[in-house]
Formats: sequence, structure tokens, C-alpha cells
Amino acid sequence: MDSVRPARCPECGAASRPVGGALVLHGHGLRQRQVLGPLEWGDAAQAREVAVRRFRCTACRATCTVGPREVLTRRLYAATAIGLALALFGLLARPVAGVREQVSPWRVVGPGSVGRWCTLAAWVRALPRGGLFRALPPCPEDWSARRVAARAAAALAARAPEAVGPSPPPLHVLAPLGAAHSA
Ligand SMILES: [Zn+2]
Repeated sequence: MDSVRPARCPECGAASRPVGGALVLHGHGLRQRQVLGPLEWGDAAQAREVAVRRFRCTACRATCTVGPREVLTRRLYAATAIGLALALFGLLARPVAGVREQVSPWRVVGPGSVGRWCTLAAWVRALPRGGLFRALPPCPEDWSARRVAARAAAALAARAPEAVGPSPPPLHVLAPLGAAHSA
């Protein structure tokens, strides 16, 4: 558990293990969390259960969770799945229904929702506010959703460890990998 304990409380910033002091972030058990979407390129879209470890801060009483790198706090979809959706929509200009089919594990689409996917729209809206991934380059306000998604996907791709080397994979393959390093 010591290996995954965050260095600081994400709420109040207190050091979790002050030198010579008592432990501030205490282990608070394991919790199962649902994570949606493919975890890598070519993976099937599915709903998985992953274990996240919970900690409680004795300074501010907040709890926080630590899970695999692909798991974003406060998001149902894996970071990799969101990176993939942005790449399909922005870089490959796939129709929204096709993006949804590849990323969402849910096969039933309401009759009023064919050709739309409000989850994807919400991700694109959250991007400029930093609500999804850290420190993405800003976009002019008049940019289309696809253009915003394309720039974000390219920026995520650049953060993938696999992006370095003589023949890196294409941007749309790198984007989901980089997304896991951008939480
Ligand atoms: Zn705290």
C-alpha cells in the first residue's frame, strides 16, 4: 500500500508521510469501480470492474482513491477510451455514431440519439477548461468540436512514451496511450 500512497492529500495538500510525524493519509480499504471503454487501440469497448485503493486524510477528513493510470477520478470512461474517442472524432473524422460504437460498451441507443453522443460532446466541452486532461494547448473559441478534439488528441499523442523512437505509431494510436499519462 505504501507504494501507491499519494505524496500529498489532493484536497488540502498535507504531506501524507511527514518526516518524523504521524501518517496523514491512512489506507481506507479497496473499492470496486466500473471503468468503461477500450483500454487500448483494437481492444473491445467493455465495462470492467477495477479495484481502486481508498485513502482518508486525517488533516481534512477527505477521502481520495488511487487506481490504475487509465482510471480517471470522477469519470466513468477510462482515460484511454476518451483519448481514443477524441482521436477517432478529431483526427480520423469518423461519424459520431461510429465513434460511439467503438468506445461505448452500451449497444442500445435511444431513437432520438442516433447520430449523437452527448458523452462525446461533454468531453469536448470539458477539454478547454482542463476538466479532462492536464495542461492541453488552448483553442480559439470559434473552433469546431472536431478541431478542438483533433488538437487535444495530437497533444495527448505527444505524451505517449511510445511516441519517441525512429518509427512511432500514428497519432490516433498514440492518443489513447498518451491519455493514460495525462490525468
Ligand atoms: Zn487533506
